[in-house]
Amino acid sequence: MELEQKVKQTLRKIKLNKREKILVALSGGKDSCVTAYLLKKLGYNIEGFHIYLGMGKYSERCLKAVKELCENLGIKLHLYDIKKEMGSSMCYIRAKVQHEKKGLKNCAICGVIKKWIMNREARKLKVNKIATGHNLDDEIQTFLMNIFKGSPELSANSGAITQNVKDKKFITRIKPLFYVDEKDIKKYSKEKKLPVVYEKCPCALDSYRIQMREFVNTLTKKQKENVIKNFEKLLPKIKKLKSKEKLNYCEICGEPSRKKICRMCELVRNKN
Ligand code: SF4
Ligand SMILES: [Zn+2]
Repeated sequence: MELEQKVKQTLRKIKLNKREKILVALSGGKDSCVTAYLLKKLGYNIEGFHIYLGMGKYSERCLKAVKELCENLGIKLHLYDIKKEMGSSMCYIRAKVQHEKKGLKNCAICGVIKKWIMNREARKLKVNKIATGHNLDDEIQTFLMNIFKGSPELSANSGAITQNVKDKKFITRIKPLFYVDEKDIKKYSKEKKLPVVYEKCPCALDSYRIQMREFVNTLTKKQKENVIKNFEKLLPKIKKLKSKEKLNYCEICGEPSRKKICRMCELVRNKN
């Protein structure tokens, strides 16, 4: 099967070891669900991690799907309830940030917060790697957005495995679906009847990303594969743009950061 073969190839390429403990970031959507399903099927040592964002019925449906998946796969699920841990739901945290930093997109804020939580919790759980469900389409969108913004260096950490950051507090992230077309993932998840929430997140309102998604949707699979091949050819050069920066620890939370204060604390913490 083409999708499974592609994932196997990717895992070989990044030399993923079956003894390593991998925490799969499960959102409730098809991509992370297929990622966990395949890693388990291929014999990897995985556990699930879900951030309950408290975004009404949508979050409840996501939580239900994630619980069902972990039960079906027989894997442990770690739950992080953002309201319990941080005092408010994601909607409220975001609204507060946007009140002060106008123009910041929902997904940009949510993404920073989720990454910060994932890295810290994964470290506490002593896992070797974090696996996310990013697919070929997501990666092309991000790469092109960074190019159009004139900041290709923002793609330096992209790839099926993060390689540019080496730090004991930073947990390496892997993307087993990096080379897999989104349409194939959807088809696969339906064929396997996996518990998936197919509706889009109600807060995904980043018009630039939506525009980019619409553009990427007009490309053929071959064209998408070519974009990613060319991205990988350029990656060594892109990495050089970024490697001069030193990784520090945030003065407020102690997490790895390129600046004195990490992006998470810049957005959320120092206002508490
Ligand atoms: S789509 Fe955007 S707002 Fe919704 S959960 Fe993902 S990052 Fe957050
Ligand atoms: Zn911080």
